[in-house]
Amino acid sequence: MPQLYFDNLSISYELIRSSRAKRLRLEIRPGGFLTIITPQTLSEVHAFHFVRKKSLWIKKYVQKLKDKNPPLLGKSNRKDFLFHKSAALSLALSRLAHFNDFYNYTISKVVIRMGHTRWGSCSRKGNLNFNYRILFLPPALRDYLIVHELCHLGEFNHSQKFWALVARTLPDYKNLRQALKAY
Ligand SMILES: [Zn+2]
Repeated sequence: MPQLYFDNLSISYELIRSSRAKRLRLEIRPGGFLTIITPQTLSEVHAFHFVRKKSLWIKKYVQKLKDKNPPLLGKSNRKDFLFHKSAALSLALSRLAHFNDFYNYTISKVVIRMGHTRWGSCSRKGNLNFNYRILFLPPALRDYLIVHELCHLGEFNHSQKFWALVARTLPDYKNLRQALKAY
């Protein structure tokens, strides 16, 4: 993950461009990661200018959440789900768009769910579903999940052909798959 430096504190961050975002939004994740969600129209220079202006707030919450573990699958909380749903959708859409530049599949619909047991799924109709907790996954594992469900639009199974599709953008998918299982 790229890093931002505020004084002597380094902060891992991720910048997500979203056509749905009306204004810039900052979120600090458990583990102390910063997510910057910006409207497509805002330049990166302006986005980082805004982030710098909020550095005191960011530092405070990064320190606070640094030692917190992200919520895992399992018991969910509706309030938590509603709070994170829109950011999770922005994230899923932006990462899907990134990888679909390569695959070029037709995605019918993307839905964020509260599920207790699954990170994601793909329906025969071409709908992709993701658990809102993808927000809390380390970016490499989250991208694996995004590519996995996206590739089901090409192969609706877990055949060798399917894994070959996944490998085209994520050659390291085997390790990522193991890591996500262990997570
Ligand atoms: Zn699958």
